[in-house]
Amino acid sequence: MKNKEIMKMVCELLLAGCFVVPLSGCGELSVEVVTPPDKLVASEGPSSDSTAPSNEVADIVVVHDEIQTPEEEEILPEADFNDHKTEEAKELLPSEQAVVKSVTASGPVALDPSWEYASYSKINSGHAVMYRAEVGRKDIVIGVNAGHGTNGGTKVKTFSHPDMSPKFTGGTNAKGAVESMAVSSGMTFNDGSREAVVALATARKLRDLLLANGYDVLMVRDDDDVQLDNIARTVICNNLANCHISIHFDGDGLDHDKGCFFISTPDGLKSSVPVAFVWEKSEALGRSLVEGLRGKGCKINGNGAMAIDLTQTSYSTVPSVDIELGNQTTPHDDANLARFAEGLLDGINGYFLK
Ligand SMILES: [Zn+2]
Repeated sequence: MKNKEIMKMVCELLLAGCFVVPLSGCGELSVEVVTPPDKLVASEGPSSDSTAPSNEVADIVVVHDEIQTPEEEEILPEADFNDHKTEEAKELLPSEQAVVKSVTASGPVALDPSWEYASYSKINSGHAVMYRAEVGRKDIVIGVNAGHGTNGGTKVKTFSHPDMSPKFTGGTNAKGAVESMAVSSGMTFNDGSREAVVALATARKLRDLLLANGYDVLMVRDDDDVQLDNIARTVICNNLANCHISIHFDGDGLDHDKGCFFISTPDGLKSSVPVAFVWEKSEALGRSLVEGLRGKGCKINGNGAMAIDLTQTSYSTVPSVDIELGNQTTPHDDANLARFAEGLLDGINGYFLK
């Protein structure tokens, strides 16, 4: 009898295509975890628990439990999420699909220490902020990361890559660096403005445009200082956004504005995990952003791409782009920043609505 019962249970589980696992550290919670067929393979980290199944869905449930009131939960139209999943399931990566079920409320979101690669982060006491569109909802979350703006970030080092291999190219950190600055301070414009401040002003304009166009926005940095290093920022986007766009201006020392470009994936990084699973999508998003900017009359540098080995790229499991909107000579008055934001919106539309 007992064996029969066990067999029956196994069959039911197989038919359902899912397993119910207890959430470690969450006591009574038990959550359905659907293992996608093309699940990304986690690399072995220094202290990450690589034996646990990927549980983006389960973990996110915990996060929105923290920020969501029961009232909000009740009025959520669950059918919307299901519809969305059905429509887009073939297009989205597993980590992107997780978003569909998870993002349910506006408000602050912290790094969940159980998320993949979260253990590599060293600065993570701050929080990002989720903004939900109220009109024309698209159920697409854009991670907007105003670059820099983490006090003390230059004094802390994190692994350049999840597999602890050295950087393939130079950039803010030298080629060959196994550890990189957790967050660099950014450059200073020739007029004395700080890149971090201008990047945040641009990010806020982009946020408002995105919300008006039905996109949800995950503002990775919503203030002058956020205590989230580049890895924490990336992991939060991996789990709560459909893409990750960081906004920068290049400190290149030139005396003229060389124009906009995105940071593309260096060849050496393309076979690394998790880069191998997502870099082509990141390139497509980057190219689309550049074309959006070009369409608004923004100057474009060369072919619009420059390959640099970034921490952001190395840890991203969703399409992820560092967009450089010029350099220390670039005009950054209100009108010009608005033009950048409009160009980026066009690029985002080009990528998600094509
Ligand atoms: Zn920068």
